[in-house]
Amino acid sequence: MLPNSDCIFCKIVEGAIPSTKLFEDDSAIAILDINPITFGHSLYISKGHYATLLDVPEGKLGGIVKNLQKVVSALLKATGCEGFNIIQNNQRCAGQLVPHLHFHLVPRKPNDPIRFNWQIGTYQKDQSQKLAADIKKALGK
Ligand code: AMP
Ligand code: ZN
Repeated sequence: MLPNSDCIFCKIVEGAIPSTKLFEDDSAIAILDINPITFGHSLYISKGHYATLLDVPEGKLGGIVKNLQKVVSALLKATGCEGFNIIQNNQRCAGQLVPHLHFHLVPRKPNDPIRFNWQIGTYQKDQSQKLAADIKKALGK
């Protein structure tokens, strides 16, 4: 995939703008996020310019995330954290600001100030069955 000349993460991948690089392989880099939400908040970024997860060609995602576990393990060791969240935003409505595939790696500690504002809901009668059927249909099953 060719770099996108308007894309800040393509520029970081190419080294055209500076970053605090933690890791690099054939398909991805990891850097410290410039505005961390926790100490050690990092980004695992594909080298190829894919706007969202769904733009990655079939069969390529495995190669991109091949070393994700390794990077997260090192991040936890270095920050002394026991937990972590991986957050992957797709499209503006989901909070994506940089349209180039990346995973937020967020180290967590007990009683840290991070709170996800999830308002839990419930399904109406038969709604979940209908939804499951629609998803299976979309999957071609
Ligand atoms: P998202 O909202 O998922 O697209 O997240 C984009 C992330 O990229 C944010 O957490 C930013 O702080 C981070 N970011 C933007 N520019 C840079 C940069 N030059 N170096 C490191 N992180 C960056
Ligand atoms: Zn890009």
